[in-house]
Amino acid sequence: MIPVLIVLNAGSSSLKFQLFDIEGDVEPRLVWKGLYEGLGGAAHFIVRHAGGADLDEMSWTSGAEFGHEEALMHLISWLRQHQERRTLAAIGHRVVHGGQAFSAPVLVDDHVVQALEKLVPLAPLHQPHNLEPIRIVRRRLPGVPQVACFDTAFHQTQSDIASLFALPREMRERGVRRYGFHGLSYDYVSSVLKDYDPRLAEGRVIVAHLGNGASLCALKGGVSITTTMGFSALDGLPMGTRCGAVDAGVIFYMLREMKLTPEEAERVLYTKSGLLGVSGLSNDMRVLRSKATTDVDARRAIDLFVYRITREIGSLMAALGGVDGLVFTAGIGENDTATRAEVVGCLAWAGLALDEAANRTGGPRISSGSGPTAWVIPTNEELVIARQTRTVLNATRAKLAS
Ligand code: AMP
Repeated sequence: MIPVLIVLNAGSSSLKFQLFDIEGDVEPRLVWKGLYEGLGGAAHFIVRHAGGADLDEMSWTSGAEFGHEEALMHLISWLRQHQERRTLAAIGHRVVHGGQAFSAPVLVDDHVVQALEKLVPLAPLHQPHNLEPIRIVRRRLPGVPQVACFDTAFHQTQSDIASLFALPREMRERGVRRYGFHGLSYDYVSSVLKDYDPRLAEGRVIVAHLGNGASLCALKGGVSITTTMGFSALDGLPMGTRCGAVDAGVIFYMLREMKLTPEEAERVLYTKSGLLGVSGLSNDMRVLRSKATTDVDARRAIDLFVYRITREIGSLMAALGGVDGLVFTAGIGENDTATRAEVVGCLAWAGLALDEAANRTGGPRISSGSGPTAWVIPTNEELVIARQTRTVLNATRAKLAS
């Protein structure tokens, strides 16, 4: 029997999954990937081969109660029917916040679940959904080992100063500090940099994870020295629907003068701001690009996005003492030629020069000249979760055997 891992990434109404073979001492190999969408309503399931070819598809009518638990149990039974020679070794989960306690992936037990629940207020939009499948598996499949892999863990290498807010000391003691997110994505990019340019892997690199969530990370010798996200996944760059950095005074204004409740203010900052808020149109860069020549607000949203990215790149360059390379990744970074061109164009002062033809075809190297280089590197957070899950599983087995 071939041991396999399921990697889960749960959202409010979706459950993404990938199945990896972990036989032998080689990189985990993707077998199938898929997702459930519309959970809690008209749910839809699709699964594809690793190469992208469709394998199976199913829909459930709206009104039928088909949530995360039903999806997970359906997935397990679907896998049992389709994987005769495979046995489930563990499930790895993307968990957005590991707080102060978890600086590395961890085998889930009661204590871990309780500790992760306490972090819900720090990531109200993501953490509850990440924890739900963990609880379901513990209840329905209690014998299956589960590993939690954190978006915050990669940034544990930040210095004390880089992770500090200028707030009273007791707040730091309560865990109010800069954590940083998208760590699974940065971990992947850092792990493959040597395949693109071995010298870059040792150097000063800024990675731009530009998706529906967006942040930048400064890597020195492959480890995070600082990042634009902080205590929550709100800080830093404007995102699809999140505001990015705002003056904290704005929040008091919302509460006192606009009479918003904390929950209403939170909803505005997480779900009604960013590209959507500024454009009044969409959080999807494809829609904004298609309207940018005729719609002033769509153009303004894109311009603000690019302006904030380039300003923050300047800040990260200062933290790194210069830059050797810039990497674009995630939905916008990997696909939106125009955003890459605009950002690199704004960095001519730092010696970056765009190779327009390479940028049009997706690189991987999209710069010319002898200055800092620019790259497009597709991220693979699921592979990092599979790697980490296997490492924790092997370490646990070794401990039990000793
Ligand atoms: P992610 O969160 O990494 O899945 O990225 C999602 C975002 O990527 C979407 O909201 C789109 O704005 C953007 N995106 C995906 N494909 C394209 C594309 N071909 N051109 C421009 N933006 C894209």
